[in-house]
Amino acid sequence: MEKKHMHISYQSDNLAYPEIIIDDETEEEKPKKTLIVIDMQNDFIDGALGTKEAVAIVDNVKKKIKEYADRGDEIIFTQDTHHEGYLWTNEGKHLPVAHCIEGSNGWKIREGLYVEGSPCILKFSFGYTGWKDYDLEDVELVGLCTDICVVSNALIIKALYPEIPVKVDSSCCAGVTPESHEAALQTMKMCQVEIL
Ligand SMILES: [Zn+2]
Repeated sequence: MEKKHMHISYQSDNLAYPEIIIDDETEEEKPKKTLIVIDMQNDFIDGALGTKEAVAIVDNVKKKIKEYADRGDEIIFTQDTHHEGYLWTNEGKHLPVAHCIEGSNGWKIREGLYVEGSPCILKFSFGYTGWKDYDLEDVELVGLCTDICVVSNALIIKALYPEIPVKVDSSCCAGVTPESHEAALQTMKMCQVEIL
């Protein structure tokens, strides 16, 4: 059966709204799937800011990464990154616990998770503002912490790519507390992030 194919173009800079184009392509292109692994670093698992909930998701995250890697789908890692003098930064004033100091063991991604050749984004704030350069088409986020960096990045991606599916697997995320984890999932759900 011939299927009409609709795609939404953001190419026209002069339009207030994206241009909706319906064309006659018979084959639907499959969107590129991207797994974004947020801050699965030792300090957030069992280091300076570790929690038992974070320890408990490591195996689920590992399985999820393997699924994407086995299919040949894209995987992007992020790494929270601070330097000496962290305690004098705005984040340090609110959270006076030195963590993820570049080069330290706590800064490193948990052993066994990183997939060789995948991009790894060093992130100096909760949300990364450069996602527009990654040409995202279908995104799933996992990692730490649900209530800070997962929610920040999910909402930035929703703002930059309003027409793509954005999913978060709750079994592969943990919050600062179980309550704030649940609250962040609820916030994301209200903002049309699909919670798995
Ligand atoms: Zn930090």
